[in-house]
Amino acid sequence: METEFDFEDRIMSGEYTPNEDTAEVSLRPQNLDEYIGQDKAKENLKIYIESAKRRQSALDHVLLYGPPGLGKTTLANVIANEMGVNIRVTSGPAIEKQGDLAAILTNLSEGEVLFIDEIHRLSRQIEEILYPAMEDYSLDIIIGKGPSARSIRLPLPHFTLIGATTRAGQMTTPLRDRFGVLLKLEIYKPEELGAIVRRSAKLLDIEITEEGTYEIATRSRGTPRIANRLLKRIRDFALVKGDGVITADIARMALDMLDIDKLGLDATDRRMLTAIIQYYGGGPVGLETLAATTGEEAVTIEDVYEPYLLQIGFLSRTPRGRCVTKLAYDHLGLPYSPTAAQPSFFDDKKTL
Ligand code: ADP
Repeated sequence: METEFDFEDRIMSGEYTPNEDTAEVSLRPQNLDEYIGQDKAKENLKIYIESAKRRQSALDHVLLYGPPGLGKTTLANVIANEMGVNIRVTSGPAIEKQGDLAAILTNLSEGEVLFIDEIHRLSRQIEEILYPAMEDYSLDIIIGKGPSARSIRLPLPHFTLIGATTRAGQMTTPLRDRFGVLLKLEIYKPEELGAIVRRSAKLLDIEITEEGTYEIATRSRGTPRIANRLLKRIRDFALVKGDGVITADIARMALDMLDIDKLGLDATDRRMLTAIIQYYGGGPVGLETLAATTGEEAVTIEDVYEPYLLQIGFLSRTPRGRCVTKLAYDHLGLPYSPTAAQPSFFDDKKTL
């Protein structure tokens, strides 16, 4: 029987795995100049930060969105550093009661950054506390119960809320509308990932050739977290199987052993694409059906697998579901014969 796939162990997922950053130097860039790529977002941020500094006021609230591992948490820290203020870090699922958020808000100091990761997972009741806090810097609390209950309004310091989410679409409109700055993080280009790999190798004291850097950069699914993870794993191979230097050969050998192909697809990606081809004639197939067939959760498919497969043109999203494209058939070495795309059927009719 096929063993159930453990998402936590997946090397090619952009998701954060606990402990991966501990015991080694932090690879997180500290300021905007060190933060590689995302030029559009950085350009805008530089202006907003400079303006807020000149006005001597807190930066407007910022919403960062994009797939896991693209640098949202890193950017939130960079923003706080550039503003020269403290950052408090929490996450949507960690705030369970209204009182939890009230305690965090009342403990903030003037100008500080409050970072809420996975902000789309806040409950509605908690969101309601955030509205006046974001808009008027005030906290409405209800004292007492029943007919004698009354609401009092407490002033809060001017703070900056930075929210991060993998799914901006799942956020409520009232919450999304209260962010002054919305920044979408894009999947990184290979040359940007190359620069990230070079920087990380230097920080970790790893020797790597240009070709070795290229191998990692092109197989990291456009995601810095994956690039850094691969760099560390391949370093282990280089130490044990070579002389410690990451060359193209060492990188290729390690990536082959990790079952990661030339485009950065791993066994799970290939299994998903093959399932759509074998069971659904290449698509279209609905997300829920696909989740049931592959044993993955629908949100995981949407957040983790799909963005990259869509980006490289292996999947297309249609109103009726997901379709595998010819590029993916070619990559998998399968004959292209989708039941979904039927122009050949009509062409054949015409020639009969
Ligand atoms: P997210 O919050 O979007 O899941 P993170 O901010 O935790 O992603 O980034 C994951 C890792 O990738 C970080 O540890 C950081 O070292 C690295 N990283 C992310 N973005 C960049 C970047 N633009 N330049 C250099 N390294 C980056």
